[in-house]
Amino acid sequence: MHIDIITLFPEMFQGPFSESIIKRAQQKKRADIHLHQLRDYTTDKYRKVDDYAFSGGAGMVMMIEPVAKCIESLQSERTYDEVIYMSPDGELLDQKIANQLSLKTNIMILCGHYKGIDERIREHYITKEISIGNYVLSGGELAAAVLVDSMVRLIPGVLGDETSALSDSFQDGLVSPPVYTRPRDFRGWKVPEILLSGNERLIAEWKHEQSVERTKKRRPGMSEGEINDE
Ligand code: SAH
Repeated sequence: MHIDIITLFPEMFQGPFSESIIKRAQQKKRADIHLHQLRDYTTDKYRKVDDYAFSGGAGMVMMIEPVAKCIESLQSERTYDEVIYMSPDGELLDQKIANQLSLKTNIMILCGHYKGIDERIREHYITKEISIGNYVLSGGELAAAVLVDSMVRLIPGVLGDETSALSDSFQDGLVSPPVYTRPRDFRGWKVPEILLSGNERLIAEWKHEQSVERTKKRRPGMSEGEINDE
């Protein structure tokens, strides 16, 4: 998967993209991530990318010109499956969206700042708007990093069996059952007996029951099987 990210703060991605699974995905050439500094696309002497909003009001708006230039320059190199704008009023990111996006070849992600971007960018270039939750962040960078992580870990060959994505919460409309590791007894806090029994069938049943119960309690609106419906 080829991912282009347009941002005013490329350095914000250095941490999340240079560790753990996203790092491994890049090393294995499953994910090819490129950061593009929006300021490189302005013709303004001071490399200005924001301006006052028409109609007044507090806060600056990201100008249409540098964003349009940057998007068009990237589009002249390849065809994008999606041009995504990170936005608090976008579609709420969930496992289903991550699954669908993980199958794409070329994705562009635009990170906003200030009061957001000129609406005309959204109308004419953006094919998908994604929010990571109903709260407002200072910029799209952290949200984009979350989106990229959720997609990249699903690309075949990125996770080993030991961290298989298929057994994660939400993949089958259920949250995960509790997990335990050694020691069996820590200060009298014991691992459930059944997990030590070696009986695979009973263990699988127990895990499923735990998942169903937890889902009812923690995600009452969700129901089993609802994610893998396509
Ligand atoms: N005035 C805007 C918020 C702008 S926040 C509004 O009220 O809708 C600045 C930028 O941060 C946005 O352009 C967007 O790219 C990003 N952002 C903020 N919250 C986000 C969220 N919950 N999900 C995704 N991106 C978000």
